[in-house]
Amino acid sequence: TYVVTDACIRCKYMDCVEVCPVDCFYEGENMLVINPSECIDCGVCEPECPAEAIFPDTENGLEKWLELNRTYSEQW
Ligand code: SF4
Repeated sequence: TYVVTDACIRCKYMDCVEVCPVDCFYEGENMLVINPSECIDCGVCEPECPAEAIFPDTENGLEKWLELNRTYSEQW
């Protein structure tokens, strides 16, 4: 899955939401998040993010953000 990180906080862009083929972005408290159960790992959103806030969860140190993405996206 891909994960949204802190560079997204209070970012006003929605480019990622527009390109995601499965609509798996959700609104968290002050940032957008990706639902890890719905993300199909296509990678399309990563280069579209003007804040460079989106990373694949295979990168080191993203466990906390993955958890947060899961929690916020599943409260809907
Ligand atoms: Fe959506 Fe693809 Fe980004 Fe996952 S990697 S959030 S499916 S655009």
